[in-house]
Amino acid sequence: MKTGVDKLETPIEFLKGVGPKRGELLRKELSIYKFRDLLFHFPYRYVDKTSFHRIRDLHDQSGSVQLRGILRRLDVAGSGRKRRLVGRFRDDSGVIDLVWFTGVHWLQNNLLVGSEYIVFGKVNSFKGNISIPHPEIEKVGSEGVRQAATFAPVYASTEKLNTKGLDAKARRRLMKALMDQITPTDLEENLPAELVRRLQFPSHYESITNIHFPSSQAELDKARQRLKFEELFFLQLKLLQIKGRRKKVIKGYEFEQIGTFFNRFYQEKLPFELTGAQKRVIKEIRRDLRVGIQMNRLLQGDVGSGKTVVGLMTMLIALDNGFQACLMAPTEILAQQHHQSISAYVEGLGIRVAFLSGSIKGKKRKELLSLLELGEVHILIGTHALIEDKVVFKNLGLAITDEQHRFGVAQRAKLWAKSKPLPPHVLVMTATPIPRTLAMTLYGDLDVSVIDELPPGRKPVQTIHRTENHRMRVIGFMREEIAKGRQIYVVYPLIEESAKLDLQNLEEGYEALCREFPLPEYKISVVHGRMKPADKDYEMQRFARHETQIMVATTVIEVGVNVPNASVMVIENTERFGLSQLHQLRGRVGRGAEQSYCLLMSSFKLSNEAKERIQTMVRTNNGFEIAEADLKLRGPGNMEGTQQSGILNFKIADLAKDGRVLKAARNLATRILEEDPGLSLPKHLPIKMYLKKDDKEVRGWGLIS
Ligand code: ADP
Ligand code: MG
Repeated sequence: MKTGVDKLETPIEFLKGVGPKRGELLRKELSIYKFRDLLFHFPYRYVDKTSFHRIRDLHDQSGSVQLRGILRRLDVAGSGRKRRLVGRFRDDSGVIDLVWFTGVHWLQNNLLVGSEYIVFGKVNSFKGNISIPHPEIEKVGSEGVRQAATFAPVYASTEKLNTKGLDAKARRRLMKALMDQITPTDLEENLPAELVRRLQFPSHYESITNIHFPSSQAELDKARQRLKFEELFFLQLKLLQIKGRRKKVIKGYEFEQIGTFFNRFYQEKLPFELTGAQKRVIKEIRRDLRVGIQMNRLLQGDVGSGKTVVGLMTMLIALDNGFQACLMAPTEILAQQHHQSISAYVEGLGIRVAFLSGSIKGKKRKELLSLLELGEVHILIGTHALIEDKVVFKNLGLAITDEQHRFGVAQRAKLWAKSKPLPPHVLVMTATPIPRTLAMTLYGDLDVSVIDELPPGRKPVQTIHRTENHRMRVIGFMREEIAKGRQIYVVYPLIEESAKLDLQNLEEGYEALCREFPLPEYKISVVHGRMKPADKDYEMQRFARHETQIMVATTVIEVGVNVPNASVMVIENTERFGLSQLHQLRGRVGRGAEQSYCLLMSSFKLSNEAKERIQTMVRTNNGFEIAEADLKLRGPGNMEGTQQSGILNFKIADLAKDGRVLKAARNLATRILEEDPGLSLPKHLPIKMYLKKDDKEVRGWGLIS
């Protein structure tokens, strides 16, 4: 073995027992290129090999068992496809058959009748006879058999690996071959000694050894704990470094003053008292805007928590300092609503608010664009039309995006380029609360503000679960609410893969509703994704103006739409919606003074997970609680807004379960960087060295938001 070179960088085919063919297989199937990759490919479970079963006690439900005994006979039975090797295996309590259908020749040549073996496999029962098909079998005393008392690691595998000679047993043998070569100097300590002592962690080397071949549960637990901490700690450290570097490098406009726009709005226009959370967030933003560093802030707040007014007041600060501001929303409907409510808020203050989307064309567009370039438009609100190259600002000081996860990376980058010489301050608003653990990781390099308080006087939406046999009662309830002057949403799922069927569902549902709610007394709007934008918009407007009482829709209404008079949300096929979607939908009601309701319609038979989702919705209105439940049910990689983020591919940490470890890791990373931003103190040398080797690429969000 080479010396002076990092042994862990050795290409995997040079490991004993691998070679070019298996090396290729490991690269293709598991992205294992070098020793380090294999070392950090941890087992996903362990089988307890600390004890032996007695053959007499085995039965068809015994599952995986470990036996120790003598191989008494070895016979080939059957022929053709049924040809198999049968081994009679005996311990001091009884006899059982071991059966192999493949590798017969090799086994015949290698197994020694009369010798003592350790056998591991799953008990199978066929017509009352039990046997063990394809057991692992190892000769007692032979090389490679560790002391019996271990937890045997089981590694994630693939069909190909299993059939091409890298099955569980072979993988274990490789791991052992690797561990035999690795010494403590190859896995140098990567955390400060003082910390390792204080947290009573095993060393880095010990934890890697023990994660693969633990000799007891306690040892395994300690190794897991440390490796989880390590993984989260180094990720947080990198994210915080990115953030720190950005703050050093990327200058921003200094908005020193609060002026007349802000003050007059606050004193004359604001129709309500800000909540404590809104005030706190505005303070956080003001602090950002004053210091000459570009702001990159994520604003999370549940539906209805009042993000718009916070966004507006931020824009007013920009205006007070002589700059323009823009607000970009993901849909035409949402952008229009923002335009309307913001125009109304600032009426009489002498602020020019303009709207831009794909539907603004020709002369009107030209005019608008030239006013914008002259600085005659103060606030521009619109869809992604805002980032087109032709849209030129005089001096854009602030860019706000609503529901940020719907924009792509490239789109957001274009916003940055809209201002010279410095990039605009950026505020990103989202109503999809994500659990803190996820936020810390996904947006670990951003500043995050949370509005965790709803405006006072809101009556929480009452959520009720109903099945098909309650249909008539639900219809009756809807009639009562309409009689009180309320409006109702009825929402159907629209999932890409079954779009045709879904649309049919919606149409049938719509027809059924038309029968239950006939003209002229009742009027119904329909909106779905296949309609032209102009038609959708027309229907939305009719509903918003209360010309119709019922809005039948697919999830297009999910984001942001605001019709305060709508007090009932009926969700059809609830079981097909994800939790965060359900919560978003429910957020469409409960926006006015009236008691609102959310009726979750589902079939009678439900999967456990669907039941759990529905129960969660019935139990709580709190978006963060719902996000936590979602995280537990679906895992971090499947939640809305997290899909393309490689950052969540953890080797051992689990954001759904390791929240406390994550918090500790982040706190420590913060403290260390505060004390020693360059990691140049001797005690931080282990960290610095490890960061150089650890090649998990971390790309921050800050630079792209
Ligand atoms: P979201 O956070 O979902 O975007 P909005 O900004 O649309 O929420 O606000 C929801 C509603 O609550 C709006 O009608 C808004 O006028 C109202 N609102 C916002 N802040 C307050 C407050 N502090 N007190 C009372 N009503 C408020
Ligand atoms: Mg909103």
